[in-house]
Amino acid sequence: LQIINPKYTASAVRKDQYPDSGLPEIAFLGRSNVGKSSLINSLCNYRGLARVSGEPGKTQTINYFSVELREKDGEAIRRTPFFLVDLPGYGFARTGGQKRQMWSDFIGEYVTQSPHLVMLCLLVDLRHPGLDIDRQAYQWLSEHGVPLQIVGTKADKLKASEKRKNMIMLKQIFPTGHDAVVHSSLKKEGSAALLERILMSLDE
Ligand code: GDP
Repeated sequence: LQIINPKYTASAVRKDQYPDSGLPEIAFLGRSNVGKSSLINSLCNYRGLARVSGEPGKTQTINYFSVELREKDGEAIRRTPFFLVDLPGYGFARTGGQKRQMWSDFIGEYVTQSPHLVMLCLLVDLRHPGLDIDRQAYQWLSEHGVPLQIVGTKADKLKASEKRKNMIMLKQIFPTGHDAVVHSSLKKEGSAALLERILMSLDE
């Protein structure tokens, strides 16, 4: 199972800017610096697809990448096209007297109103399960009926025993009906499991 042909397609901050190709969408959301760009790049095997930056809060648009999920079943090869949707990171306090919001309104608009969203991967740092900001995001998303997959990032920073412990915590704190995927972009771990989940939700 692998992602092929990743191509940047569009950016949007309003509903009328969403691409209207009718492809199903898998979105990625998480706190700034959680490792979202690295995960997207590692899933797609494409270094510079989503930017990796030391500057949290920089990506401020919804970015669409058209991709195909390639699946080999014996001799047969199936390709499932979809959009991978990169949402801006949340939890980064912007300067000025602006009222502090969990995230930009257009993120809420996208997750509640995009007609083609089939699953949202909520990324949380595996070292810090249950941060307030992530709990709030989870709460809001579940209340709005968004189908969620929790992904614990930067798994390479933990010992095996801590990984297991924190994975159980993720399951308790963010009950979604599916186990969290434990992922490391550095060690290329967890991508296969996540691609399986993506395929499952595209097939539903
Ligand atoms: P984003 O803001 O959520 O897109 O996060 P980035 O992908 O830009 O990553 C933020 C920082 O965490 C960067 O310095 C990355 O090199 C680092 N990082 C991301 N993923 C991993 C990982 O799996 N393991 C380790 N050790 N560091 C990571």
